[in-house]
Amino acid sequence: MYLKKLGAKMKKVGLYIHIPFCEKKCYYCDFTAFAHLDRWIEPYIKNLKREFSLYRQSLTLTIDTIYIGGGTPSYIDEKYISEIVNEVRKFPCEIKEFSLECNPNSINKDKLKLYEDLGVTRISLGVQSFDDLVLNNIGRNHKKDIAIRDIEMIKNFDFDLSFDLMLNLPGQDFSSIKKDLAYVKALDPDHISWYSLILDKGSRFYALNEKGKLELMDDDREVDIFNYIVDELARLNLNRYEISNFAKPGKESIHNKKYWDIEGYLACGLGASGFLSNVRYSNASNFVSYEKMLKEGKKPIVSREFISQKEREKEYIIFKLRQTRGINLEEFRKEFKADFLKKYKKAIDKFIDDDFFVIDDCFSFTKKGMELSNEFYLEII
Ligand code: SF4
Repeated sequence: MYLKKLGAKMKKVGLYIHIPFCEKKCYYCDFTAFAHLDRWIEPYIKNLKREFSLYRQSLTLTIDTIYIGGGTPSYIDEKYISEIVNEVRKFPCEIKEFSLECNPNSINKDKLKLYEDLGVTRISLGVQSFDDLVLNNIGRNHKKDIAIRDIEMIKNFDFDLSFDLMLNLPGQDFSSIKKDLAYVKALDPDHISWYSLILDKGSRFYALNEKGKLELMDDDREVDIFNYIVDELARLNLNRYEISNFAKPGKESIHNKKYWDIEGYLACGLGASGFLSNVRYSNASNFVSYEKMLKEGKKPIVSREFISQKEREKEYIIFKLRQTRGINLEEFRKEFKADFLKKYKKAIDKFIDDDFFVIDDCFSFTKKGMELSNEFYLEII
């Protein structure tokens, strides 16, 4: 009801759709993603359509970006992706970008052709590493050669191509990262997301680490290697625009920028979280509750949180500073009726001599500032 009222004001929003199925669960993964639950695929797609329909009846909005993520959207039969897109097209749409997550070993030419026909503009491929030892250590179900084969296949179509790569994986060292960078150079993607391993509770790696059985890099080594990655990617014209994201000019992800700019996005599917008109909400993350609520004609939302202007300001600072262009000082003044540099002078002064910031019409972190950003956030928040 609350979303309905607020939604009436909504103009253009992104749409995230979650597909929670994978062929195999990776050892580091704590996402809402399940292997060996294929019997749920068909009913799940029906339920997703019910969810879209509830939003169509209650909200006035135009979808301008679509992101189908997971899980592994390319794992499910392509006819389901087609059904999803046909439903989404019943919303008012002015699509600027349509991303679909794929994993190596789950695509073929027919699938890619259909994705292209459905209007997908961008493929985000879960490569993670180009080192077979590392891929095996993290439980991926593909090898380097399969990833390369699939990348070459994708490049025969008219998609923007993004790779997901990871740092601080078991078995990964500097020479393995150099190999990754050599493949990036040879395969020439438009965009890269390069994230450090996070030990999420619920993942196999988290349990192993608790038992002291996971060997990872120490923090200083990880920072040094990440800085090397940032410099090498810049040489390939893949410029850092967010703390872990790199793009050729004009190839930044429009949809993901909505998250970092705290703009509205609708999220549908199991465990999905959305943000509409200052309300952050999360969906049920088990199939039975998700289906039950939808069959009863209710949105499958299990938590809602109104983000006050004070909380919004904190989020705004953190998310804007994740991006290399930082906080536009005039925009901040308009948005929060305050002078950022005066309001946070105490915290800024603490780091001002440390080569942490660049201050002109924007306030942004230097590379060193990005590394140590948590210390600054603690001061501010
Ligand atoms: S493919 Fe992605 S979503 Fe699926 S288990 Fe692996 S990391 Fe998780």
